[in-house]
Amino acid sequence: MSAPGRLVIVGLGPGGPHWLTPAARAALDGASDLIGYGPYLDRLGDLRPDQRRHASDNRVELERARHALTLAAEGRRVAVVSGGDPGVFAMAAAVFEAVEGGDPAWAGLDIHVEPGVTAMLAAAARAGAPLGGDFCAISLSDNLKPWEVLEKRLAAALSADFVICLYNPISRARPWQLGRALAIAREHRAPETPVIFARAVGRADEKLTVVPLAEAAGGLADMATLVIIGASTTRCVRRSAGERPWVYTPRSYGGGR
Ligand code: SAH
Repeated sequence: MSAPGRLVIVGLGPGGPHWLTPAARAALDGASDLIGYGPYLDRLGDLRPDQRRHASDNRVELERARHALTLAAEGRRVAVVSGGDPGVFAMAAAVFEAVEGGDPAWAGLDIHVEPGVTAMLAAAARAGAPLGGDFCAISLSDNLKPWEVLEKRLAAALSADFVICLYNPISRARPWQLGRALAIAREHRAPETPVIFARAVGRADEKLTVVPLAEAAGGLADMATLVIIGASTTRCVRRSAGERPWVYTPRSYGGGR
């Protein structure tokens, strides 16, 4: 009998190693096998000679999860890596889905989720404090859910006056969804509502843009962008000329102005 395997799903944070938690670092160091989307594995640099690298395409999450579980069941110490937090639109859910529908022995494995800084928290911190009030997160990808569900959810979140964080806003295969989402937002929110486009936060090519909703357009985002649409209470604090304003949402509703 080999030693019992273990599987840890590790969040790498949104950018460089400065946003990797010490616990995530320890989980990576303790792994014999590292599995994930190639660019995430690349972020880790060279592995030790005793560590194996299993890179895969980003779209085969369930397959990757089953592979990880199979290795863990063979007694390997497996780390599945995700950008940001592994539980936010990422691999942890795929692993549990694979356990639920897979080999009954997988349910007996030592499975652990190691959290990371998710993109919306990093983006919000850069912008100021837009998540100071109630907020929600929506993945704009309609690869895994129908667009009608997304539109309904978006309209409900807008009418409930949440600050809305949009993950996966746009891709080559999904070019129009963000434009449509912003059009829906304009039906519910004032034209001056701040919208944040936070691109590649924590990486060398980071870029933050704040525009009023009236000027927000799909072209301001790419696959590495997190979009935050303010609530009715979200506002900008002006800084000196040429500097990006701080964006914040006061904690007290309707007060303070
Ligand atoms: N698990 C990840 C999210 C995966 S979905 C997390 O917790 O952050 C992928 C989406 O996350 C991207 O399309 C983008 O919207 C967002 N994202 C990931 N890293 C980002 C970064 N460094 N800056 C801005 N947005 C990012």
